[in-house]
Amino acid sequence: MKNREYYAAIAKNLKLHTDPFINGAFVKGGGEPFKTINPATGETIAVLSSNTVEEVYEAERIARAAFEDRRWAGKSPAERKEILIRLGELMMEHRDELAVMETLDSGKPIYDNYNGDVPESADTFRYHAEAIDKLQDAITQGDGEHLSLVVREPLGVVAAIVPWNFPMQMAAWKLAPILAAGNSVIIKPASLTPLSLLKIAELSKEAGIPDGVLNVVLGSGSVVGNALAEHPKIEALTFTGSTEVGKRLLVQSGQTNAKRIFLEMGGKNPCIVMPDVKDFDHAAAEAVNAVFWNMGENCTSNSRLLVHRDIKEEFVKLVVEKTEALRTGDPLDPGNNLGALVEVPHMEKVLGYIETAKREGGKLLTGGGRILTETGGNFIAPTVFDNITPDMTIARDEIFGPVLGIMEFGTEEEAIRIANDTVYGLQASLFTDDLSTAHRVSRMLQAGTISVNCYAEGDIGTPFGGFKQSGFMSRDNSVWANQQYTELKTIWIKL
Ligand code: NAP
Repeated sequence: MKNREYYAAIAKNLKLHTDPFINGAFVKGGGEPFKTINPATGETIAVLSSNTVEEVYEAERIARAAFEDRRWAGKSPAERKEILIRLGELMMEHRDELAVMETLDSGKPIYDNYNGDVPESADTFRYHAEAIDKLQDAITQGDGEHLSLVVREPLGVVAAIVPWNFPMQMAAWKLAPILAAGNSVIIKPASLTPLSLLKIAELSKEAGIPDGVLNVVLGSGSVVGNALAEHPKIEALTFTGSTEVGKRLLVQSGQTNAKRIFLEMGGKNPCIVMPDVKDFDHAAAEAVNAVFWNMGENCTSNSRLLVHRDIKEEFVKLVVEKTEALRTGDPLDPGNNLGALVEVPHMEKVLGYIETAKREGGKLLTGGGRILTETGGNFIAPTVFDNITPDMTIARDEIFGPVLGIMEFGTEEEAIRIANDTVYGLQASLFTDDLSTAHRVSRMLQAGTISVNCYAEGDIGTPFGGFKQSGFMSRDNSVWANQQYTELKTIWIKL
């Protein structure tokens, strides 16, 4: 990677799109303009135009026309594959620019955007592109008098609504399988972080995705997101965001056209450390990364650390040491591990949780407040509380900030009970040196992804999604995501 000055120079000369992308062109929206603000400085980056409800409806008509004349779905799998692979390549050619854009817009560290978000998003397009001509339909046994085919068809027009914490990656996780399956798409970024998706829209045209197939609408969830949710024709809505909004989308689907709803929602993920662990240094480093990566603005943030009481004192000491070694500051500096929280109201919400934890009896070990106020940015010191019990607020609510609550347990059964005592079920980490414990406890934990002796979400080849209120009928990544954006059709032919 290059140094801060290099990325700061790119930041000064960025060319930003500020209008929705509809029918292959950036067209000013007629809704309320809105600003996007740099969370690390408080400065306005750009003023963007937003769409009206009528413009969202027009986007649907455009996407439907593109679907019905089969300008995309009708291409051979090999042609669609080439175009989506090209999109991934173009993203890598614009790697610096995309990484800087994402850093300015979201406050996420450039190190993560450059090494993770951009290449992994590009890889998401490549993976789903490569899958297109490898997936197979089926012929069933039939009855001897009929030929019975089971084939997959694209859904039609799919809407996608994505959050601000991994703006580019969440958009790629939706767009790549939707497009690979032959659908048209209308996607809405979070108003706090729209910039990288608009750049991807530009690159999608250069890659050869036909006009009208990929459309980006801009505006608030309450206006533009709501219009997508209540639309009477859109065949499916895929969403990543809060559980509160996700559950509302289910109701709206039932009240309108029963559109397919795929939800990826919140998490309150546990990290369990068993007493047999020998490599404390590794486990503590992973536990610290698991909670503080992306400033804890991460659906799989391991914000509950459950440590066996026999090893707790020594282990917690290491966790605090490693937390204090993290560098928080200017997200354009590749040396910083943590950047700024996305906006002032969210930072205040996280600070509120810290105060609640103190009031409810949590023992503050490190951090505990806002830092670097002179920058004008939304920085919070990574914060660790001990003496947390499962009934306390910070053990129950998704904080979505750099705050860790440590709890202790005495038996395996108790660890499992505490870990599962949440409405969420997205991810869990487990540290043990015993193979049987690893298998047994992994099967008992209620979560979509279990990582053993590491903190991880799997990779593009593994399905990602949640149990309980962390998800609904949805998996991102892998060939399962690809199939999610298709309907099964039976064709029964008399011989
Ligand atoms: P959010 O408030 O639910 O917003 C997510 C998206 O929904 C944004 O684009 C937002 O638009 C839109 N929206 C808000 N209200 C809406 C409505 N009434 N109708 C339709 N759309 C609406 O969530 P967030 O605060 O951006 O993201 C944080 C949440 O996402 C956390 O709970 C986190 O755990 C979850 N998340 C889950 C995963 C996963 O894979 N499970 C991954 C990442 C994040 P505006 O913001 O423009 O208003």
